[in-house]
Amino acid sequence: MAETFGNGRGSQAWLKVSGSEDTLDPTGPCPCGGVPPGASFAQCCGPVIEGERRAETAERLMRSRYTAYALADGMHLFVTWHPRTRPESVDPEPWVRWAGLEVLDVVGGAAGDDSGVVEFRATWLAGEGRTRQRGEVQERSRFERRAGRWFYVGPEPGSPG
Ligand SMILES: [Zn+2]
Repeated sequence: MAETFGNGRGSQAWLKVSGSEDTLDPTGPCPCGGVPPGASFAQCCGPVIEGERRAETAERLMRSRYTAYALADGMHLFVTWHPRTRPESVDPEPWVRWAGLEVLDVVGGAAGDDSGVVEFRATWLAGEGRTRQRGEVQERSRFERRAGRWFYVGPEPGSPG
């Protein structure tokens, strides 16, 4: 049941899906596609976003950040952004619905590494009917590990994003 998932925030209000009136079912497929594919939110990005489990790899952190965008969860985006490069606050667009993630390339970023690069493509939808828009974001992102935690640093120079 959604009400019993997690212990950090005391309600399921943060499970509201960005760009819709829906609430994410934690037992349903993770917005990131899941690791392994089809894994539920409660088994995949949920514990990372809740702070119950650290992302072991740069890819897992990137996936949790995508899922945080899908939930318009600015807090997780902020705390996983490297202090050197992060903005003062992170406010995901609440009218954008994130519709899919593809991981295109991974270099480094394993549990024993200090840095890594993950290239991804994310699809978004916004609006309804004739004003409906669809777009893609592609970025080659750099990650660094600091005190045992992975952080998003920013796009690689020359990244298509
Ligand atoms: Zn996930």
